[in-house]
Amino acid sequence: MNQSDLAFDQEHIWHPYTSLIAPLPCIGVVSAHGVRLTLNDGTQLIDGMSSWWSTIHGYNHPRLNQAAKVQIDQMAHVMFGGITHPSAIALCRRLVDMTAPPLNRVFLSDSGSVAVEVAIKMAIQYWVARGKNEKSRLLTIENGYHGDTFAAMSVCDPVNGMHELFNGVLTKQLFAKAPQCGFEQDWDEQDISSLEALFVTHHQHAAAIILEPIVQGAGGMRMYHPNYLKAVRRLCDQYDVLLICDEIATGFGRTGKLFAYEHSDIVPDILCLGKALTGGYMSLAATITSKAIGEKICQTDAGVFMHGPTFMGNPLACAVASESLAMLQQGDWQQQVATIEQQLKREFAPFEQLENVANIRVLGAIGVIELKHRVDMESITQAFVDNGVWLRPFGKLVYIMPQYIISSADLTTLTSAIYRVVSDL
Ligand SMILES: *Cc1c(COP(=O)(O)O)cnc(C)c1O
Repeated sequence: MNQSDLAFDQEHIWHPYTSLIAPLPCIGVVSAHGVRLTLNDGTQLIDGMSSWWSTIHGYNHPRLNQAAKVQIDQMAHVMFGGITHPSAIALCRRLVDMTAPPLNRVFLSDSGSVAVEVAIKMAIQYWVARGKNEKSRLLTIENGYHGDTFAAMSVCDPVNGMHELFNGVLTKQLFAKAPQCGFEQDWDEQDISSLEALFVTHHQHAAAIILEPIVQGAGGMRMYHPNYLKAVRRLCDQYDVLLICDEIATGFGRTGKLFAYEHSDIVPDILCLGKALTGGYMSLAATITSKAIGEKICQTDAGVFMHGPTFMGNPLACAVASESLAMLQQGDWQQQVATIEQQLKREFAPFEQLENVANIRVLGAIGVIELKHRVDMESITQAFVDNGVWLRPFGKLVYIMPQYIISSADLTTLTSAIYRVVSDL
């Protein structure tokens, strides 16, 4: 990558949420190993983002590389309609094993947003099959993030989501106040009252509630009380509404449990997985439900579940995902995540003294510093790069979610870089 490559990029290539008129410059990354990104000029940065929750085992892992190489010499892809293959079967066996017992019917798709669309279609088709076509709306909570496609956008936070822009096109869904009790705070029964009111008023028209269990990610990096999710499960049972847990960010150990719903000892009716599913190697997602719900969905006039992406069950992605899950099943992620959590709590404690820090939150391998003011993304990102780390804050949030394999010394490099940059703001 020379200057003209980077200029071409800036002129012709859209990056996530960027302007074509005033694009911020991008950093050229040429390779990555473990927790380190190597830039064009040979500089290395310690990555605190895990490429948006995904590269849990680190970059360029020999076992994941090997799984991809073995599969690519067999076949990179084959259609999934009417055809199956060993990698999809191996992956889905592991998914069924790892998730709670009733969750044993797996729908594979290409990305998290599509997994959410699939979950929503499942819920709506389920009620059509039960002769209750009027149950087609969705309940959710504020500060959620569920993806960038239309149904997913309709359940993202109405303020910091994209509702205003796409107003009139987006389906109007039903929002309750976001939970206020933090993960480790004392539980307050009142926390559920806004959502309970929605159930009481709208359950006859509600197909499902969709939410991120325990940790709300891109909609605000908020961590809420396990009793809230327990209460949601109870309301769903009481009012006959399906529970969709979007674990695309939280799944596969990130919060200290394999799945965040385990903190509340509940089981969702439909579960969405993505991001870390392939260890961050490529795009793959899954929507999982129970036998009972899955079979009911197939009892409409259509007789089938009406969805089927071209690259459904892509063998290359399935092979890598299956290996990534094998590594989780055999590895010591639980100890790694617990160690990261303790270290983050210890090393974030001094931030409480900083005048511009509003709140500090840590759960599992997720650390959040909420500032009192919004950051300037370009200058703060550059300051982090100057300090040898890769972090991408948004709004008032500086946050890290490192790879589970990070060493204690590298994690300290990350937290001290954050301390220096935040105290200089
Ligand atoms: C990232 C994310 C999505 C969307 O996944 P994509 O792969 O980006 O489409 C959906 N839900 C949650 C909770 C996410 O964090």
